[in-house]
Amino acid sequence: TLSDRLTSVLSNLRGKGKLTDADIDATAREIRVALLEADVALPVVRAFIGQIKERAKGAEVSQALNPAQQVVKIVNEELVEILGGETRRLRLAKNPPTVIMLAGLQGSGKTTLAGKLALWLRKQGHAPLLVACDLQRPNAVTQLQVVGERAGVPTFAPEPGNVSPAPLSEGPAPQGVGDPVDVARRSLDEAKRAQHDVVIVDTAGRLGVDEEMMRQAADIRDAVTPDETLFVVDAMIGQDAVTTAEAFRDGVGFSGVVLTKLDGDARGGAALSVRHVTGEPILFASNGEKLEDFDTFHPDRMASRILGMGDVLTLIEQAEQAFDQEKAEQAAAKLGTGDMTLEDFLEQMLAVRKMGPIGNLLGMLPGAGQMKDQLAQVDDKHLDRLQAIIRGMTPAERADPKVINASRRQRIARGSGVTVREVNDLVNRFYEARKMMQQMAGRFGFGGGPGGGG
Ligand code: GDP
Ligand code: MG
Repeated sequence: TLSDRLTSVLSNLRGKGKLTDADIDATAREIRVALLEADVALPVVRAFIGQIKERAKGAEVSQALNPAQQVVKIVNEELVEILGGETRRLRLAKNPPTVIMLAGLQGSGKTTLAGKLALWLRKQGHAPLLVACDLQRPNAVTQLQVVGERAGVPTFAPEPGNVSPAPLSEGPAPQGVGDPVDVARRSLDEAKRAQHDVVIVDTAGRLGVDEEMMRQAADIRDAVTPDETLFVVDAMIGQDAVTTAEAFRDGVGFSGVVLTKLDGDARGGAALSVRHVTGEPILFASNGEKLEDFDTFHPDRMASRILGMGDVLTLIEQAEQAFDQEKAEQAAAKLGTGDMTLEDFLEQMLAVRKMGPIGNLLGMLPGAGQMKDQLAQVDDKHLDRLQAIIRGMTPAERADPKVINASRRQRIARGSGVTVREVNDLVNRFYEARKMMQQMAGRFGFGGGPGGGG
């Protein structure tokens, strides 16, 4: 797996101080093999490796990260990027009903997905309608009805007796009786009549891509003008996913992808390829036969899956923590200079606030024990008040708190809605913090030393 390969190649990097081009090439080779093994299509692998190399060679020199951590960080970030970056949500129409059409090969999981989507939407307060436009297999309509019942959602289908399997051979699709295009069209009227705000259109698929199937799907598409056309693809089919996706993109077009059968041993290579080759985002992931086995697709989670569990993930976490720590140390270095102003004080507090309780930051500083108690009182609510007080000061006061005399304290207190005592507390605490930071800076020389990665 990618995880195993990365772990071995990274262990060679661990002792080194700097990434050489040879290191990067060796790492890239391993990643390449691993991605190919994970069924990622070759052009995608090439693009990905090119990107990794470029970034690794121009990598920002990081004090905190060792070369192995840097590579892992880059690989992970690029994987997330190539998988789509941000999570893409389902687009609902401004004027209901929202029409969602499902397309894909037979067995890819469309009908199952129709039920999963219906349940998922119903739980969010929508009133979906399932539409049976697979009239080619005799029991396809029944299958959708069963799934719909389990999801608690009605199914629109041609009247029983009218359902005759369309010929699988050549020739135009029959019109009228059992015509999927007609069913699709009429389903919109039904949705309006029965006040369904989402319509999910299940379509027929073949075992391989063929023109007749594409034509039928395109006709259904034209009849209902979907807000989302979802290409449903079995993650287990690996490399074939790319050619199939291209065929559907050209034949029907789609706005998003759904990966199914991720509960199998698929490494997720198909996900990477389909997204990259078609440029369309992956919206959902299916990972089982039950209707609940379904979730929004998250690029970062899929990246973790491709990278593998265990060692590499731990490495990523360590890398990220080390990276945060580096930033925190930079912030602390600023605090340590004698000419720190109240403005800096506030800014740094807000910056480190993102990292969690301010006590955590202090814990990273050598010799910070004596300050811990004092800063432990600085909780988030308190920070809000401090912020208000400092905002209530003039720039001159912020730059040099010495000028803040009694009448100024009163004015600041009034202006920021706190007591004079709180203003006094802030000013006193600022002086103390500055003094301690200076002492610590003198003792440990912030800003010069190497970070503590690894
Ligand atoms: P369709 O031909 O595209 O409509 O595919 P179906 O919805 O009929 O699914 C084909 C088979 O795959 C059925 O046996 C489903 O139970 C199964 N299936 C669908 N989605 C998943 C999934 O996410 N995981 C697993 N393990 N099986 C699935
Ligand atoms: Mg089906």
